[in-house]
Amino acid sequence: MELSIIIPIYNEEENIPLIYAKLLEVMDRLFENSSQKYEFIFINDGSVDQSLALLKGLAEKDDAVGFINFSRNFGHQIAVSAGLDYAKGNAVVIIDADLQDPPELIIDLYKKWKEGFEVVYAQRIARKGEGIFKRSTAKLFYKIIAKITAINIPVDTGDFRLIDRKIVEVLKDMPEKNKFLRGQIAWAGFNQIGIPYERDARHGGETGYTFRKMLRFALDGITAFSDFPLKIATIIGFTAFLFSIGLIVYALRSNVLGNTIPGWTSLTIIVSFIGGVQLLCIGLIGEYIIRLINNIRNRPLYIIESSNLKAKHETNMEK
Ligand code: UDP
Ligand code: MG
Repeated sequence: MELSIIIPIYNEEENIPLIYAKLLEVMDRLFENSSQKYEFIFINDGSVDQSLALLKGLAEKDDAVGFINFSRNFGHQIAVSAGLDYAKGNAVVIIDADLQDPPELIIDLYKKWKEGFEVVYAQRIARKGEGIFKRSTAKLFYKIIAKITAINIPVDTGDFRLIDRKIVEVLKDMPEKNKFLRGQIAWAGFNQIGIPYERDARHGGETGYTFRKMLRFALDGITAFSDFPLKIATIIGFTAFLFSIGLIVYALRSNVLGNTIPGWTSLTIIVSFIGGVQLLCIGLIGEYIIRLINNIRNRPLYIIESSNLKAKHETNMEK
């Protein structure tokens, strides 16, 4: 199996026939008539329209079509993850069903992969049919995430991309539940390259990404790849603690100089001491949580591209 195409589906009855036809055309151009070389994996993410019936119809006619039907709506990233679990190809393409991602571009992605790139992501140079709100929030989000994370998530990319089997295995090795695939792929490393394209408007239907889903997605991305929000607690806590010490010294001094009313000094000292200590402790707990999270995520510590050394267990087995 050379190529798996993963297509998440959430209420896409208007688009399924067309995306299938277009993908088929592309596969014919890439592999002529050998349909054993590719597979389509449609994941029906709890659609409430005729999507499932359409997918079942396609699967009956075409052996290259597989479908996974979720019991309810689990979300786009999880739908794609399920596709990755089942994909058998040496390379995997993730593409939206609404034809915002042009299927023809898969040919270019595939060519770059053949040149030796493990990740070929499609980079939007224009976004048609998307409102100013979506465009500006997306832009802001990628700016923020670029600032506060150590990994390099390319701007203006979605999940439309081709990834090599090696990357698929890395993703399967990342047991985190809150998926932010484009970040995880960037984190994985290897040779990555972008291909520019113009993002079209939706062919039919409506976006399945409500504002709530977008917000949750953004938070998943930030919390998965940045400790910065927790670090804020440390910074504020430490600053407040220093400030409270200053305030205590000032209150004592004013008291000795005698220019205070009774009760002011003791109140000020108590309030600022307790406030400062509390914030400092919260910051401290934050530092532990950061380390806790890093362990709980259970990501591989490193990913080896190649080596001339044998793995420990292999050497042991030979003994
Ligand atoms: N999608 C999904 N589950 C969801 C929302 C969306 O599987 O909960 C699919 C959808 O069918 C499409 C892709 O994810 O194939 C991208 O979604 P959409 O076009 O709605 O997002 P947008 O392009 O507006 O960001
Ligand atoms: Mg879309």
